[in-house]
Amino acid sequence: MNIGKDIGRDLTGGLIIDWCAQLAQQDGEFVFMNSFASGYGRIRFSTRTLEAAFPPSGGTAGFWKNGRHAFYEIRHQTGVFQVACLVGISGLGLRKQKACRQLLAAAGAEDTRDDCAVVKAWDLLPFLSSSFQEADALSDFAGCELQFFQRELRAWLDDPARRIRNFPGLELHPVGNLELPETVYMEGALKTILTDRFERNRQARRQCVAVHGTACAVCGFDFGLVYGEEFAGKIEVHHRKPLSEIREEYTVNPGEDLIPVCPNCHLILHSKAEGVFTVAEVKNFLNHQDVAAEAGKDASVVHHQTDLQDSPIRHGGAGKY
Ligand SMILES: [Zn+2]
Ligand SMILES: [Zn+2]
Repeated sequence: MNIGKDIGRDLTGGLIIDWCAQLAQQDGEFVFMNSFASGYGRIRFSTRTLEAAFPPSGGTAGFWKNGRHAFYEIRHQTGVFQVACLVGISGLGLRKQKACRQLLAAAGAEDTRDDCAVVKAWDLLPFLSSSFQEADALSDFAGCELQFFQRELRAWLDDPARRIRNFPGLELHPVGNLELPETVYMEGALKTILTDRFERNRQARRQCVAVHGTACAVCGFDFGLVYGEEFAGKIEVHHRKPLSEIREEYTVNPGEDLIPVCPNCHLILHSKAEGVFTVAEVKNFLNHQDVAAEAGKDASVVHHQTDLQDSPIRHGGAGKY
């Protein structure tokens, strides 16, 4: 047994618990639950969204502490740093069992762990360069992957036939279309300050997509739906505030300041003689084109290629996002 290693592990576990407690205090969405196993090896939390999907039954008996049969678990052991969304199926009524199986199918889950099923698991290890960056990695995760997953979960609740998608691998896509000034503070799950421009853009992109999804906020165009799964998550990010209006110190709120837009709408947004058009203005242009096309006045004036005219994600604000 390596005592030094255990102390280090306990320390980091303590930091993670502090992180959870702080997050639960700051953000009403999060519910800190408990930790167990030596060295805080498994730390559990829940969210209001998950509780809406799987309401706690009350009581404290059995394996599912606090009467919950779905929660998130941070696994922190030697060589493992993972967050997973877990649901338990055994011991549930038939209706809840069915809901659990539907969710597992929607998420494409196969893996099982002990007596519960893994809906989704996220490995945080690759993002770490030292053992004391766990809280940072968790904040990033909470602001991006987790937020996106919860969004998918809410959409699934509305439509159980829907598939739960993975957070798009945005690192692979160019980030050049998003310009931010030199000094920017990003609002995440916990506030972080980012230094270099590339990392700032990458982070802004991740958070924007986590909040808004990957369909165009103007016309609803979704690359994955039109061109295929391979292209899912490709989208540009538009910064609503013109750079000229931004002061030296500036905090980006990814939910309000940034929106995902397709290249066509993006071009139009920036086609104003002075400044930029607003989303409402460009939506309005599209609606007018819709009316014209439906009246048969000029069917060739459409936003996207004509072979997409019958597609459900055609322009005109049909998007769910
Ligand atoms: Zn668009
Ligand atoms: Zn733009």
